[in-house]
Amino acid sequence: MKTGLVFHELYLWHHTGNHADYIPYGYPVEPLNHSESPDAKRRIKNLLEVSGLYEKLFKISPRKATKDEILYFHTENHFEKIKSLNNSITVDAGITAPTGIGTFDIALLATGGVLEATDKILEGKVNNAYALVRPPGHHAMPNRAMGFCIFGNAAIAGKHALKNKDLKKIAFVDWDVHHGNGTQAAFYDDPRALTISIHQDRNFPTNSGLISENGEGKGEGYNLNIPLPPGSGVGAYEEAFDRVVIPALYAYEPELIIVPSGFDGGAGDPIGRQMLTSEGFKSLTTKIMKAANDMCEGRILMTHEGGYSAATVPFFAHAVMETLANENMGIEDPFQNIIGNLGQQELQPHQDDLIKQVEKLLKKIK
Ligand SMILES: [Zn+2]
Repeated sequence: MKTGLVFHELYLWHHTGNHADYIPYGYPVEPLNHSESPDAKRRIKNLLEVSGLYEKLFKISPRKATKDEILYFHTENHFEKIKSLNNSITVDAGITAPTGIGTFDIALLATGGVLEATDKILEGKVNNAYALVRPPGHHAMPNRAMGFCIFGNAAIAGKHALKNKDLKKIAFVDWDVHHGNGTQAAFYDDPRALTISIHQDRNFPTNSGLISENGEGKGEGYNLNIPLPPGSGVGAYEEAFDRVVIPALYAYEPELIIVPSGFDGGAGDPIGRQMLTSEGFKSLTTKIMKAANDMCEGRILMTHEGGYSAATVPFFAHAVMETLANENMGIEDPFQNIIGNLGQQELQPHQDDLIKQVEKLLKKIK
């Protein structure tokens, strides 16, 4: 089994500037770092190197996506706007999406990296791949940047697979703590993509990601949202996977599974309120891998999205990549025991009720 890794130093050079978390600075807000800084991502790459896992991964070199490829999902207006901002610093190029010098070029390199990973998987060069790219993509909408995201990396990879690689059906399992609204929008009326997002109930975007958003037209039934209550732990996530995500995948039988992978569902994230652990992320990865092995020769593409605790995120990401690669580097997550023993890690009744509501939608998937 081979696992691919997409990475480029320039991904860390996308500069989100001074903010306080995601709020622009300026009196009375003292300048601080932006939530979406390179720190967590740099530390993932560093942990992969010091554990030795980096050496075992198949390196996939990114390229810049072309304009035509960006237009698989975005409007020309959005492409030209981000291009025009390439030499300027903006506080906000959309909704909470700052850009720095060179962001346009780096965003093209992020999308292109994800496209290269898609090709390597579909050509059989690797079984699965993790695209450690930046800026992230799952909130970007056709006509605007949004939520730290510039271009919809995962959505564009899906469009590419359907358009150019002759796939008939693909599935997305977005486990970022925020709703994968961009990916949902990209395929909302398209039955060729099953889009699933498991996230914290109405965190970001505001009032987005409700159970009632179930697809429309020919895509009716093929968008599933699982808005878990804040405070959900490993038990709630595992139940939601066992009872909704995995049965949905088996009912649909995709030829490729794309996972917009945010680690902001981990305990301690500054802008998420869930309680996942390394062991939890490992367990969710194993469940998706089993489904992928049964249905689509193990083809899984993970695209990096959020995850803002620079201390814990590298351990979550390392655990996921070890699982994808079927390796054990002997790295113990020093946070595992502390956050794994938090109260209410097991399924709670109000979380069970929510999962029951989504289970009712499974019968619409054919
Ligand atoms: Zn997120």
